[in-house]
Amino acid sequence: MGEPWLRMGGRWMSSPQVEEVYDLYVNQLMVEGERRWDEQQINSLFSEEEAHNIISMPLFQTVQHDKLIWDGNKDRVYEVREGYRLLMKERWKHKEGAVTKNWRGVWAVNAPPKARHAMWRVCSECIPTRVRLVQRNVECNTCCPLCNEGLEDDYHAFALCPDVVASWEAAGLSNILIRRLPKFNNVSDLLFDICSGEDQNIAGRVAALLWSVWQNRNAAVWSEAKLPPVQVGHSAYQMWKTWFDTQVTRAQDSMKGKALPQQHVAFEIAEENFNVLRLENIPPGCQSLKGRVWLCLMPYNLLDKRDGIM
Ligand SMILES: [Zn+2]
Repeated sequence: MGEPWLRMGGRWMSSPQVEEVYDLYVNQLMVEGERRWDEQQINSLFSEEEAHNIISMPLFQTVQHDKLIWDGNKDRVYEVREGYRLLMKERWKHKEGAVTKNWRGVWAVNAPPKARHAMWRVCSECIPTRVRLVQRNVECNTCCPLCNEGLEDDYHAFALCPDVVASWEAAGLSNILIRRLPKFNNVSDLLFDICSGEDQNIAGRVAALLWSVWQNRNAAVWSEAKLPPVQVGHSAYQMWKTWFDTQVTRAQDSMKGKALPQQHVAFEIAEENFNVLRLENIPPGCQSLKGRVWLCLMPYNLLDKRDGIM
């Protein structure tokens, strides 16, 4: 009885209990030679609530031997990584001062709009990972579609999955991730910290990586055509670099007084139904018409489909 063995209201029964049970084993609370609780003894040794919990625990005839079961994942198999994560989670619970949710920092990262939008969605905890779908009563397998190990929650999908860690490395962002893993127990806080603590270009590259990782995950789910992790990391960096070089060129041309044709302008606004407004492919000449603006409003879900964010 010196070890935790019984759940009560989501916590382990406190130990030690009354002095009389210190040296008892659980099987001594059963009727000898039978597979049933010794209710009289249990009622005399434990409080009414504890006794009720013990007696309501079913004793299966099919179970012949006791065994240790890890409660941290669905496979009931202990992994060092999961144990470490659980430990950090407990530690973080007691740590004072949660991460400041710096939303302005998220939108200020230097990255293509679709990448910033992906980062905002991860920070908002609204990416439809399999664990989240199950939490919302959608029946599906909760296993990660990239590594087929562990549960696909936000943290796993964007930071812990071995495939994704390899992509962070290939994108040249490994050190940005690794040194933060011990400090945080969820990817949202980790990203807020990156947006606050790193320069906007680095944070922008992280945003591009998140977008690419989720694209690749969707490819694995919907077309079974996922890319190798290293390629995901490289393409994320390349996507960001191409965008960045274009910004630099525009800024330089602007300094020279050249007016570039405005082909693609994007704004993000926080609206309930439309969270992205796009003004794009403005026909030549229309920009000079006063009071006329060509707006292409795309509903949130359509934009997601087009950019492959969902
Ligand atoms: Zn995985």
